[in-house]
Amino acid sequence: MAETPLAERLKRRIALDGPMTVADFMAAALGDPTHGYYTTRDPLGAAGDFTTAPEISQMFGELIGLWCAEVWRQMGAPDAVRLVELGPGRGTLMADLLRAGAMAPGFREALRVTLVETSPALRAAQEKTLADETVPIGWADGVAAIPEDGAPLLIVANEFFDALPIRQLRRTEAGWREVLVGLDPETDALAWTLAPGPGPAAALIPEAAARAAAPDDVVEIAPVAWGVAGALARRLAADGGAALIVDYGHGLSAPGDTLQAVAAHRYSDVLDRPGEADLTAHVDFEALARAFSEAGCRAAPLAAQGDFLRALGIEMRAAALARAGDPAAVAAARDRLIGEGAMGSLFKVLGVAAPQTPPLPGLEG
Ligand code: SAH
Repeated sequence: MAETPLAERLKRRIALDGPMTVADFMAAALGDPTHGYYTTRDPLGAAGDFTTAPEISQMFGELIGLWCAEVWRQMGAPDAVRLVELGPGRGTLMADLLRAGAMAPGFREALRVTLVETSPALRAAQEKTLADETVPIGWADGVAAIPEDGAPLLIVANEFFDALPIRQLRRTEAGWREVLVGLDPETDALAWTLAPGPGPAAALIPEAAARAAAPDDVVEIAPVAWGVAGALARRLAADGGAALIVDYGHGLSAPGDTLQAVAAHRYSDVLDRPGEADLTAHVDFEALARAFSEAGCRAAPLAAQGDFLRALGIEMRAAALARAGDPAAVAAARDRLIGEGAMGSLFKVLGVAAPQTPPLPGLEG
């Protein structure tokens, strides 16, 4: 099979500059302006490469909408609140959230929405999904571009942090060495290699992961995600509000290579077709929560997605939808979202609150 155009370009870059970090490889594979995976396509849904919770059922976005409205009410129902979604995909979660938000009188009127999205293809999909929405909606390229008007923030992110570039380090006899993408000297193909000497990235390894690592183990660090968390936490601490982060990952920092490539609902080789497969890594929620709390916010105890959605009333919502529609389809979607062994336990929910925000519903008792 011919190589992807991005593979050709990355190989030239490596030949010129030397091996690149996993983070640089991941950032190019996902976000390259001409050949990046997200830049060039809408990967979601049955016909795409993977499916996400909001694409499985409207219940997911609706329940998150009720959660947002409840946090807003507990904050004293401020006249203005900025609702931010990070990596909104097709805009499905936001559409369901806003529709359900009408249940709380005054909530929709207080909202200004900012969608943080880098992909032109997905921005177009979001514009289409939300075309008839009357709440004001704007787009931002990154968290630094979220408008600052002093209003408290409600921040939602589903399967966003797993797409941010990670770095990997391997424990060798000589100490930590960064995992790099280089060229196979014989075939000239993209190939894994190790940095020849120690580097500054080792200082970022979470202590618990370093302590638990056996010889040859890989540990992952997520400086981009931690930087995003720090920036969001500083905004929350200044303006008030809360964040809800849903993703797959582990509750405690631990060694493990979790980088994976998925195309057409199948795992593929990470180096195989850069730009044509989704690349993700599991979220280290312990380290992510620490990045929020070090910047002045309160992180709620991590919850399993199933427990969180049950606490928000998914069973009742499913029963109502079943009466109005196809009971078997509704039950199947509910079970996918909350089932043990399905998304219910694999996916976790991290709630983050500004110091002045009351206990978060469904997460802090
Ligand atoms: N939340 C959606 C989509 C998840 S896919 C859902 O649940 O269906 C990941 C999303 O994050 C996509 O919208 C992708 O374009 C976006 N994304 C990835 N990296 C990003 C970055 N660095 N900045 C902004 N958005 C990014």
